[in-house]
Amino acid sequence: MDTITKRMRAVVFDGSLRFEANYTVPALPEGWALIRVRKAGICQTDMELMKGYRSFRGILGHEFIGYVENCSDQALVGKRVTGEINASCGKCALCRKGLGNHCPERKVLGIHQLDGCMADYCILPVSNLIEIPRSLVDDRAVFIEPLSAACEIIEQVLFEGNENVVVLGDGRLGILCAWAISTVVEDVTLVGHHPEKVEISKWRNLKTGTNRDIIKSDADVVVDATGSSSGINEAMSACRPRGTIVLKSTVASQGDLNLAPIVVKEINLLGSRCGRFESGIQMLESYPDMPLGRLITASYPVEEALTAFERASQGDALKVLIEMR
Ligand SMILES: [Zn+2]
Ligand SMILES: [Zn+2]
Repeated sequence: MDTITKRMRAVVFDGSLRFEANYTVPALPEGWALIRVRKAGICQTDMELMKGYRSFRGILGHEFIGYVENCSDQALVGKRVTGEINASCGKCALCRKGLGNHCPERKVLGIHQLDGCMADYCILPVSNLIEIPRSLVDDRAVFIEPLSAACEIIEQVLFEGNENVVVLGDGRLGILCAWAISTVVEDVTLVGHHPEKVEISKWRNLKTGTNRDIIKSDADVVVDATGSSSGINEAMSACRPRGTIVLKSTVASQGDLNLAPIVVKEINLLGSRCGRFESGIQMLESYPDMPLGRLITASYPVEEALTAFERASQGDALKVLIEMR
């Protein structure tokens, strides 16, 4: 890089959201890579951050594909990559147990103490990067991160295939969770609020509905991907005794919550966050018919990021992309 500090375009949140044309390109720590971002996705977590989740300040964005511009490993330069978003310390007890995603010292791209990817450049440890197979076009590859988060459920809940699964929430994450689970379980129902999103979610044997009445109280596994504080209440009523609820929403504020049904029905409550990117990539390659293109609502150049966020906050929006052309 030049000795002159380089400037870049960036989408910055510092209490309010703005587009910056003249942001400093991040310095490159030892063992990290500088990535020239090509596309970034707006995610529900970004919306939560803007409501105060984690008191984040800085460049938003944690879903991206880009090209390695600079790093100590020359073989990686120029490669099309995405990256695991947790930059862990590598030294603490949790890191040594292979649980770097839970490292107390970790920085998280665009979420915690690390500028995100809605900019011309972002940085991540080289070990976080994953090369995107040539077979995956950009508009599928942008789903690696959220699809991996959906696949995490399959790794946490050891499905046998004959369960009755209900996914609550017809946002992008709910749909991806339903699609991922439907690759291993026959009987999956997605329940949402928006008829057009529910329509979009139809794939394989997935059953869908907008009427809460279709939910009985007999689900073996309920996934709460509603992104709303009432989701857990609906999940508790949909779950059978001794069933499992998977919590997939990080909701910034919780309303009144009565957990008595968890005790009375002896429900297992499982928190689920990020997944391994290998799982997401593998699923994308195994299911080329997974209709991800339907989930892309719109794409905007980075200069129009505010419009992009506006679009993403509308009820019918699924995935809105920001492009760094
Ligand atoms: Zn996300
Ligand atoms: Zn650590």
